[in-house]
Amino acid sequence: MICKKFIFITVFFMLLPAILSPVAHSSIPPGFEEFQENVKKQARKYPDIFFLQGPGSRKKIALTFDDGPDAVYTPAVLDILKKYQVPATFFLIGKNVSRYPEITSRIVSEGHTVGNHSWSHPDFRELSFSEILEQEILPTYRIIKKITGQEHLLLRPPYGAIADETIELLGQEDWKIINWSLDTFDWYENYNEPQTILDRVLSNIHPEAIILMHSGGGNRDNTLKALPLIIEALQAKGYSFTTVNKLLF
Ligand SMILES: [Zn+2]
Repeated sequence: MICKKFIFITVFFMLLPAILSPVAHSSIPPGFEEFQENVKKQARKYPDIFFLQGPGSRKKIALTFDDGPDAVYTPAVLDILKKYQVPATFFLIGKNVSRYPEITSRIVSEGHTVGNHSWSHPDFRELSFSEILEQEILPTYRIIKKITGQEHLLLRPPYGAIADETIELLGQEDWKIINWSLDTFDWYENYNEPQTILDRVLSNIHPEAIILMHSGGGNRDNTLKALPLIIEALQAKGYSFTTVNKLLF
């Protein structure tokens, strides 16, 4: 009996670090800190082309939604924004725009800003510059222009990942590359309960933040639940909302 108890206690304490450590560490996606250091470097190196946040200290926030449009989540996000009369910026995937032109039109007609999130969401670091421009960015630019009449020059690279050389070349074509200063991790499965997303926003919020969320590309139920909480909590702290264009330029 004593022996069994001893074994149980010994095994329990041997496993304790394994039991505790995933809980302590995995709410942050692997590689996140390295990613963040790299984009901060890029923002310092290319202050007129590559942006993580606004330049000042106004209590203004730009909510951004990637990976739409889709048939379910993008309209639901639009409904919430309309209810609160909050403007936002949508970085759209070209092939989704071609599939959902009416939702693309709705985004613009309700006063939001649209930007380019590539045609097919590849990792730009694995493509040549001409592939990026000719196959991903320009077709998306053209279809958004055709549907909405808007000529945008805002780009968010898929995964926020882009080589320095690509930033320089896109800068020469007048593109502005918009990453973010606050990732809600709404895309990070198992760690994206609405309250978790809200807590993350409230503990990282700062003046002129650009916040990353998603309006497509997967199950975004928790994004929809978190969005009203975020809007109400930030408004209660004296923040108001604007588009990326107005925040930066
Ligand atoms: Zn994306």
